[in-house]
Amino acid sequence: MGNTIQSIRGFSDILPAQTPVWRFVEQTFQRALERYGFAEIRLPVIEKTALFSRSIGEVTDIVEKEMYTFDDRNGDSLTLRPEGTAGCVRAALENGLLHNARSKLWYSGPMFRHERPQKGRYRQFHQIGAEVFGYPGPGQDAELILLAGRILRDLGLKDIRLEINDLGTADDRARYRAALIEYFEGHGDALDDDAKRRLYSNPLRILDSKNPAMRPIVDNAPDLHDFLGEESTAHFAGLCAMLDAAGQAYVVNRRLVRGLDYYGGTVFEWISDELGAQGTVLAGGRYDVLVEMIGGPATPAIGFAAGLERLVALVEESGHAPQVQPPQAYVVVGDPQLEADTLALVERWREADPSLHIQLHLGGGSMKSQLRRADRSGAALALIRGQAEAEAGEVLVKDLRGEAQQYALALDQVPTLLCELTNR
Ligand code: ATP
Ligand code: MG
Repeated sequence: MGNTIQSIRGFSDILPAQTPVWRFVEQTFQRALERYGFAEIRLPVIEKTALFSRSIGEVTDIVEKEMYTFDDRNGDSLTLRPEGTAGCVRAALENGLLHNARSKLWYSGPMFRHERPQKGRYRQFHQIGAEVFGYPGPGQDAELILLAGRILRDLGLKDIRLEINDLGTADDRARYRAALIEYFEGHGDALDDDAKRRLYSNPLRILDSKNPAMRPIVDNAPDLHDFLGEESTAHFAGLCAMLDAAGQAYVVNRRLVRGLDYYGGTVFEWISDELGAQGTVLAGGRYDVLVEMIGGPATPAIGFAAGLERLVALVEESGHAPQVQPPQAYVVVGDPQLEADTLALVERWREADPSLHIQLHLGGGSMKSQLRRADRSGAALALIRGQAEAEAGEVLVKDLRGEAQQYALALDQVPTLLCELTNR
C-alpha cells in the first residue's frame, strides 16, 4: 500500500452515506425552481479566462488570487469556473436565449476557487444558481428572494436570516467611490496591504475586508445609502414594501456588498448563525450591466447562488436528513449450484415490479455469513433459497427485524409480499 495517491487539499469526495442528503437538497431546489418557471441549463466547467476577469472584475479576491487558470495545449488561457453567472450569461447570449429578453434559468455543479480550506470553505464546492433576465422591477427582486426563502423552508431550515442592501446605480457608486477614497486616504497608515492596493482601483472592495484589524475603519466609513439617487431609493423602497406585504422578515445591512464587481442595485444574503464565520448559505443580487459587459444587449438581470456544502451541513445538523433506503429483501442462496437460477429468478421479480428493491447474495458463503450480510443490508426480510426450496418452488421468508416465525412462500407470491412491505 505504502505509496497511495490522495485527493487534492480542498477537494472532497462525497460518500454514499452523504449522497441522500445531497440529493434531497438538489431535488428540493429543482422542484421549487421549476414551480417558479425556471428552466435548467447545463454549462461547461471550463471557460476562457477573459470571461471571468472581465465580468467578475480584475481587482477582486476571485480574479486576483483564487482562480485555477492554466494554458491549454494551444496556449489559450482557460479557467475552471469560480462561479456560474458569467458562464450562464455567455451561454444564454451565444444560444440566443435572450432574444425576447426574458428568460429564467438555473444551473448546478462544482465551482473552483483557490481559497484557504476550512469548515464551509473548499477549493471545489458546489452551487445551485438561478438567473432571471429581462425584468427590471423590484417585483422580480422580491420574488427571487421569496423563492430562496421557500427553498430554505422546504429544506426544513429555520433561523436563517435575510439581509438586503442596495448598491445603487453606476453613477451613485462613482460618487460614493470618490468619498470612500477621500475617507480611506485619511487612514493611510492604518490600512492593510490589500486595502492600500485597492484604494484607487476598487475602494468598495475594502468594505468587504475579512481582516478584523480593518473593522473599526470600515465601520466608520461613509455610508453608501447617503449617495443613492432617486431611482435607487425608489427601487429599494419598492422591494422593501413587497417583502413586507409578503410577510418576509429582513434586516437592511448597509455594509452588505458582494465580492464580484458586476453587482449593482439590490443585493441579498441568507445567513445562518450555526456555521461560524462561513454563515452565508445563499447570496445574490442585480447585475444589470453584465450582459452588456459580455457583449450582449443591455438586459436587466438578477440572480442568486446557493452554497450546497453549507446547506448540506445544516440539513445534517437539523436531524431531518433523509436516510439511505434499505432493500425490502436480501436473497440468501443456500447452495452455490443455485446461483445462476436464483439470479434469473430475482431478475424476473425486478422486471415484474419496478418498485422492488432486492439485494441478491452472490459468491456463496455459509448460511450464517449470508444472514449476517442480510442483516447489515438493513433489509426487512431474508429470502432463503436452498435445494429443498428450489425443488418445491418456494423460498423461506425470515423476518430480520422482528420475532415472526420463518415460513415457506410460493415464488409467485414474493413480489406481492414485498410490495405490501413497501406500502405498510
Ligand atoms: P464568502 O463571503 O463566504 O467568501 P462569496 O461572497 O465569495 O462568499 P459567492 O461568490 O456569492 O460567495 O457564492 C455564493 C455562495 O457560495 C456563498 O454564499 C457560499 O455559500 C458558497 N461559497 C462560496 N465560496 C465557497 C467556498 N470556497 N466553499 C464553499 N462554499 C462556498
Ligand atoms: Mg469568497
